[in-house]
Amino acid sequence: MDYADTVYKMVDRRKAILQSLFQDRIVGGSLPELASYADLFFRTPDGVLLTDPNSGTVLDANPAAGRLFGMPAIELVGKTVTELGVFGRGNAIEARLNNGVEVKIDRSLMRIQDYFEVEQVLLHDQTEVKKAQVLLQAANEKLKSLSLTDTLTGLPNRRALEERLEKELSTALNSGSPLSVAFVDIDHFKKLNDTHGHAGGDRVLILVAQLLQETLKRDGFVARYGGEEFVCILPGMSPQMAKFALELCRKSLEESRIPEGATQPLGKVTASFGMASFPEDGNTLDGILKVADLLLYDAKSQGRNIVVTSFIGQPLKRVS
Ligand code: GH3
Ligand code: MG
Ligand code: MG
Repeated sequence: MDYADTVYKMVDRRKAILQSLFQDRIVGGSLPELASYADLFFRTPDGVLLTDPNSGTVLDANPAAGRLFGMPAIELVGKTVTELGVFGRGNAIEARLNNGVEVKIDRSLMRIQDYFEVEQVLLHDQTEVKKAQVLLQAANEKLKSLSLTDTLTGLPNRRALEERLEKELSTALNSGSPLSVAFVDIDHFKKLNDTHGHAGGDRVLILVAQLLQETLKRDGFVARYGGEEFVCILPGMSPQMAKFALELCRKSLEESRIPEGATQPLGKVTASFGMASFPEDGNTLDGILKVADLLLYDAKSQGRNIVVTSFIGQPLKRVS
């Protein structure tokens, strides 16, 4: 049996369904012709199913519906809407057809020639819309990530830092857990730039950023604050522990033997640290950052390459 025979059989089946349903009240013509919208029915890119409102049986289907279901439209005739994956009532119903195609469905009753009603099921293919939505979402995420990242070092930038600081302080305030924040400023960086050029300075900034991040790993959040200044957030650590972690950073930097450091006043690339803690040094971001900044100046005036905190007591362990 060739394809034409199959189609003829289907057409006969459609006629049989119509005749049994409407007991020959309709003579000749397909349902869409009777509804005077045949042209639209055949040309519209949306899938259209005309169904028996009582049983949900498909009485006719347009070519676009056939394309949606991946079969000749005629083969949809006789199937029920439930079989095809069409559920729900009303308009703009989001659904996934039985073949996985995502559609928006509009269902409405249509009176035909005062005799009877059929249900018109419009199927709007959402595949392209969904694809565009996924691309748009990815682009938005990329844009958001770019807006929060420092282009030179790849570290979170000042904006990201501010968001994170607010989040961490609110966690600390709610849970009563400690929080420390440190300003980190590379020593004599201007001299480094003057000696090795801006590109040399940039190289050092990248290396210092990596080193801070690698040393603190998941225990801390490191951001580029601007210029040759970084900020480390150390959540959940007591001031002793946070100071210990920053000492590790300071020490790894001076021991890292970055080549450009040889010409620096201290003979190596170093940084000074000013650390402040919640609740010891304040309970607002401005207050804590102000103390950390003041302590950074203290570190500079004490000769640089040092971690200064307001915490008085024995460090957990001597690092140097
Ligand atoms: P101190 O030890 O007191 O911190 O002295 P310093 O020389 O590090 O501090 P100063 O504020 O005098 O100089 C910082 C320099 O950092 C000045 C500026 O040109 C340079 N700088 C800021 N941003 C960048 C950057 O993105 N790349 C490079 N290469 N240099 C930068
Ligand atoms: Mg500075
Ligand atoms: Mg500096």
